[in-house]
Amino acid sequence: MINQKMTELGKVRSVIREIFEYGNKRRSEIGAENVLDFSLGNPSIPAPEKVSEIMARLIKETDPVKLHGYTSAQGDPTVRKAISDSITQRFGASSSPDLIYMTCGAAASLTITLNALVNEGDEVIALAPFFPEYRVFAEKAGASFKVVKCRESDFQIDFAALEAAINKNTKAIIVNSPNNPTGVVLSEETVIKLSELLNKKQTEFGTSIYIICDEPYRELAYGVDVPYIPNFYDNTIVCYSFSKSLSLPGERIGYIFVSPKIDIATDIYAAVCGAGRALGYVCAPSLLQYTVKECIGLTGDVEAYKKNRDVLYNALVEYGYECAKPDGAFYLFMKSPESDAAAFCERAKKYELLLVPSDSFGYEGYVRISYCVSYNQIVKSLPAFKALMEEYK
Ligand code: PLP
Repeated sequence: MINQKMTELGKVRSVIREIFEYGNKRRSEIGAENVLDFSLGNPSIPAPEKVSEIMARLIKETDPVKLHGYTSAQGDPTVRKAISDSITQRFGASSSPDLIYMTCGAAASLTITLNALVNEGDEVIALAPFFPEYRVFAEKAGASFKVVKCRESDFQIDFAALEAAINKNTKAIIVNSPNNPTGVVLSEETVIKLSELLNKKQTEFGTSIYIICDEPYRELAYGVDVPYIPNFYDNTIVCYSFSKSLSLPGERIGYIFVSPKIDIATDIYAAVCGAGRALGYVCAPSLLQYTVKECIGLTGDVEAYKKNRDVLYNALVEYGYECAKPDGAFYLFMKSPESDAAAFCERAKKYELLLVPSDSFGYEGYVRISYCVSYNQIVKSLPAFKALMEEYK
């Protein structure tokens, strides 16, 4: 018999993918311009021109054997040095190329890190609402997956609930800020409180509790600071991706940064290399490694997302919807006007509006609206959102 768990995972599409596939069907039936698809977090703004320029130059001028050849398993040393230097320069955090591991995006960064940390019986905490794949990644790594809901008032951490969930088996907590699906950025005050709580619990249980800091949206913040967690909490591992900041989700490039403040940082880095090896995640794509080396910290036109956020958020609130105002990423988390969010999403389809119900994010009664779409789609969708709300009045 083959692996049943994997068979199930392969057969059942994620809810987001399911809706996206429905969108494809509708696009072929009524034309793409008539489908108001807010399902996927696929950036609509193009990668900065510099990215294509660098790629073109690398292809033209670099020895192809080197350019397309294997790098070191953990990534090219000059690329890792550039990333390490940029971490120190941009965030004032100490770093080292020997603690950077190049990956195929945040998904690989997370699975490698979880496999590096988790032993049988360990628990990994996710703060709901959370990116649904966390459960898949954590359980495959052998962890038991524990969910702690954020406060509904502002989607910051509910510290009483988190404290109650931590025990001697807690190995890690996954933190994602700016957040998918709420767009909320954890404030410095929250990050300080989180590190104080985790330090207290580490002392109480005599264990190490790691923050796995999932950061694909770090650069997508609208006028607020995104605290760099390694500066606040020693036991931190950053899982970074260039998918969203550079609009390169299909190219699959990111990295893991093991904070040197961890007392056993070199052992954890060895476990990261081991997990990368065991999972077959070695030698991230070399052309992409050399490309990002020259554009770390660069972003696409973030102002375009901010404009979408402002227009959509203001209109939805005016129509009577309730949403957490997002400070970053490109998602709005909107309360469903009926308690069954899936039923609301079904009703929205009547207006060709494709929204994602929140249940798979570990939080019921909401929908996620992914607004990394064209401004034209935002404007076109407003009468549909308005008419949809009218049905509930
Ligand atoms: N983490 C979060 C919170 C995400 O939203 C995503 C993708 O949407 C990922 C991880 C995976 O990112 P990547 O495409 O870099 O693997």
